[in-house]
Amino acid sequence: MAKKKENIEEKLSMKKESMWLTLEKKDIDKAMKFAEDYKEFLKEVKTERESVDYFLEIAKKKGFKDISEYKELKEGDKFYIVNRGKSLALGVVGKKKDRFDLVVSHIDAPRVDIKPNPLWEDSDSSLALLKTHYYGGIKKYQWVSRPLAIHGIVYTKSGKKIKIRIGDNPGDPVFVIPDLLPHLAGKAQGDRKLFDGIRGEEMQLVVGNTPINDDDVKQKVKTQVLQYLNEKYGMVEEDFNSADLEIVPADEPRDVGFDRGLIGAYGHDDRICAYTSFRAILEVKKPTYTSISFFYDKEEIGSDGNVGAQSNFLEYVLEKAYSLMNKNYTHTEFLDVLYNSRAISADVSAAINPIFKSVHDIQNAAKAGYGVVISKYTGHGGKYGSSEATAEFMHEILSLFQKNKVPYQIAELGKVDEGGGGTIAKFFARYGLDVVDMGPGVISMHSPYEVISKMDLWSSYLAYKVFLTQ
Ligand code: MN
Ligand code: MN
Repeated sequence: MAKKKENIEEKLSMKKESMWLTLEKKDIDKAMKFAEDYKEFLKEVKTERESVDYFLEIAKKKGFKDISEYKELKEGDKFYIVNRGKSLALGVVGKKKDRFDLVVSHIDAPRVDIKPNPLWEDSDSSLALLKTHYYGGIKKYQWVSRPLAIHGIVYTKSGKKIKIRIGDNPGDPVFVIPDLLPHLAGKAQGDRKLFDGIRGEEMQLVVGNTPINDDDVKQKVKTQVLQYLNEKYGMVEEDFNSADLEIVPADEPRDVGFDRGLIGAYGHDDRICAYTSFRAILEVKKPTYTSISFFYDKEEIGSDGNVGAQSNFLEYVLEKAYSLMNKNYTHTEFLDVLYNSRAISADVSAAINPIFKSVHDIQNAAKAGYGVVISKYTGHGGKYGSSEATAEFMHEILSLFQKNKVPYQIAELGKVDEGGGGTIAKFFARYGLDVVDMGPGVISMHSPYEVISKMDLWSSYLAYKVFLTQ
């Protein structure tokens, strides 16, 4: 019999398939179960503070202890460090001490914040409103005429910390930034460009309509709102001055599509990476190198500030851990360890939006359901603002995933001159360590209702787990 001719194309070319086709039934079942857990998490958690609280509560039950409770750190010890309730590190001590393996995500998401002097009454409309200042890169027109919730904390004059969370439960009222009716919008909005359709100062939240029944009160609707806040939370108007109050979509995460293959929710960017890397670090037992998952605030506004990735929190956590692992260490030694470390910048990428395909180079774009997206570099036109992973480090990571059967795809955000975006990779790269960007593709990123594939959720979890447990 003649030998079957070798297919040269099959031998030399790369072939990628949807994970829905390549995964075994038992793994698809596991991924579906994981997706349910993830939806529960997103339903509970809509702010950075809530993310830290959620992770910490579970981590403590799983044996993670405040690092200050340790006199020394030994193989298998689990520790945490919280930064002002808004950033967090969860670590598991490894056998070897010459490097750290880090997965770094962010837990803030684009949203609308409440101004420090927010409340006023518009007597012409007889409505009470809160003034806002949006946070991060949003398309403002997406946030109007939709149900919104308020999450955050307020300190009352007496120093009491009040947690506020209103708009998510079925019985709760919601809030709304009212858009203009099309009948009268021709001149007021019709000539504006899309991004300018709603302006910053026009984003005002309707919070009341009932006037207080008191002839001595001038601003009756506003006073009624203050009366409610005082009775419910013990607040007075001045307490807004110091508060952290965020306006977030009131919707719940839901399956998208007849086949339930996708999840629509607020905050996939970047809580999908935070949640998957959190679940991954929980499963790390005795890694070769110390593994740490970092969860940062402030990425969406440039990673500035004391809880952002440009702060020295990384150095603080690593040196603190290293000093407890090595009693007589020198700072030079520690710098070497930093330099030799490995990090995944766990952040989302853009999956192809079928309606606006022109922004992508399809051959280099992420497809929903094809696995976690690895980006050799991010940045914009000409790779500006990017930390590019070396060929050596890319090869190391890809080999690791091939060996462990982690499905992945390699992609860029969009066409070369189309736009772009950065991640925290470059801030970590300052220490000399190797870092690469990796996370699932998202459709409609930064919108109040982002969409991801359940397969990419699963693949991200597998990727972070393999990296952290190596
Ligand atoms: Mn992000
Ligand atoms: Mn983002």
